[in-house]
Amino acid sequence: MPDQPTKEAAANIGVVGLAVMGSNLARNLASREGNTVAVYNRSYERTDLLVSEHPEAGFIPAQSYEEFAAALSKPRTAIIMVQAGRGTDAVIDELSKVFEPGDIIVDGGNALFTDTIRREKAVRETGINFVGAGISGGEEGALNGPSIMPGGSAEAWQTLGPILRSIAAIAEGEPCVTHVGTDGAGHFVKMIHNGIEYADMLLIAVAYDLIGRGTGKSPAEIADIFTAWNKTELESYLIEITAEVLKQVDAKTGKPLVDVILDQAGAKGTGAWTVQTALDLGIPVSGIAEAVFARSLSSKPKQREAAADLPGPSESWTVDDPDTFIEDVRLALYASKIIAYSQGFDEIVAGAEEYSWDIKKGEIAKIWRAGCIIRAQFLNRISDAYSDDPGLVALLTAPYFRDAIAGAQESWRRVVGTAAAAGIPSPAFSSSLSYYDGLRADRLPAALIQGQRDFFGAHTYKRVDQDGIFHTLWSGDRSEIETAGSSH
Ligand code: NAP
Repeated sequence: MPDQPTKEAAANIGVVGLAVMGSNLARNLASREGNTVAVYNRSYERTDLLVSEHPEAGFIPAQSYEEFAAALSKPRTAIIMVQAGRGTDAVIDELSKVFEPGDIIVDGGNALFTDTIRREKAVRETGINFVGAGISGGEEGALNGPSIMPGGSAEAWQTLGPILRSIAAIAEGEPCVTHVGTDGAGHFVKMIHNGIEYADMLLIAVAYDLIGRGTGKSPAEIADIFTAWNKTELESYLIEITAEVLKQVDAKTGKPLVDVILDQAGAKGTGAWTVQTALDLGIPVSGIAEAVFARSLSSKPKQREAAADLPGPSESWTVDDPDTFIEDVRLALYASKIIAYSQGFDEIVAGAEEYSWDIKKGEIAKIWRAGCIIRAQFLNRISDAYSDDPGLVALLTAPYFRDAIAGAQESWRRVVGTAAAAGIPSPAFSSSLSYYDGLRADRLPAALIQGQRDFFGAHTYKRVDQDGIFHTLWSGDRSEIETAGSSH
């Protein structure tokens, strides 16, 4: 056990890992009244650089984990911002040796929530608190105010809450941080945030593609359209930066930068995690899945090259009335966006049920209003929907969203139909529309699927007119029906 902290133990918070995210977060912490920040990095050069470049921050640098622990007042609280995976495990091991029961280790990296559950359980056995906290907003958010999604125990939140509130982004006077739930709840919700981010980005990209190819407008002209959209229900950080990206001119060629960027989208895995988890939970997040798959498809150059001469529509496509078409695309984007968020929140509800987390959906919408990549006006409407009806079974059925989709759906259908006829991929628009039509359908062809399953696998089915479980002897007289279970 380390010695009692001496009078040198002046820091109320520490940061381990001083690359882009960690150094910005440490500077953010140090800039808030009442915080003194101890800093440690595996290789001391980074620590030295940060401390010498920012004397105003009053950092307390540490050259070893022992020095780091001794610099912190109790309960010691440290935020780890290191490379996710093995790096995180290595730092937790080291901190566990020098911290004491009641101290708090926070993992602010992008951990998979099941890893966080595992780590929380292991660290808890030592009496130390472990908190997995999703931190969104990239390096700018880390420096000026991120949206923070902490999990972990209520005890840890008592100490951590005021510190995190001091550095979080502010939306309409409220800090964008809340105790999401126990153990991995924070990283789970951060994962869904990223999944929704993938969907939102694809929707915007498809809207750009359709407008560009349908109207012949240049990227700069489309930037103006996005700037105008940013004054509508679509107002959001992603729409805003899209206009900036589209306006950018390549210094080397003089062309719009977007036209010289290779069209293969990368991914760091949180979108795929969202979809993999949704599959396990049985939640259709088709908008998010299409966004992950669209990036995968874009990054298959050999397949794309081999398929490039496959036939498309025989007639070329132009839009007769560009203004009407652009407004249709805006509404299709809005409706599809509602579906993506609705699906994301469905996954939050299912995860909360599976892992016994008491997640307040309205609070989550509120902490996403600033500091994070999906920040948008629209999130106020989601928060209102859950505060009006905490038991809301699907976000898209809340009155506000119901009306919004009612106003958009004719446009949405026209755009999906037009895109299909023109041979332009619009996966997030079309799959969202299919999801919407599936959810509102009186009757689905799932009945036939049940028949097929019973035919080849005796998987049984239920009837619309009678309780019980049934199996048909398909090869014999069709009227012959066996019943099983409660129907006997
Ligand atoms: P990073 O490149 O992911 O990681 C580099 C840092 O990890 C360095 O400080 C490095 O120390 C340290 N590290 C790696 N392995 C270690 C080990 N075994 N023991 C101790 N330290 C180790 O840094 P980052 O981009 O700042 O991201 C930090 C975390 O934030 C990651 O989990 C990332 O996923 C998450 N995040 C990043 C962003 C973003 O926009 N970049 C946004 C949200 C969340 P050395 O200097 O000694 O090599």
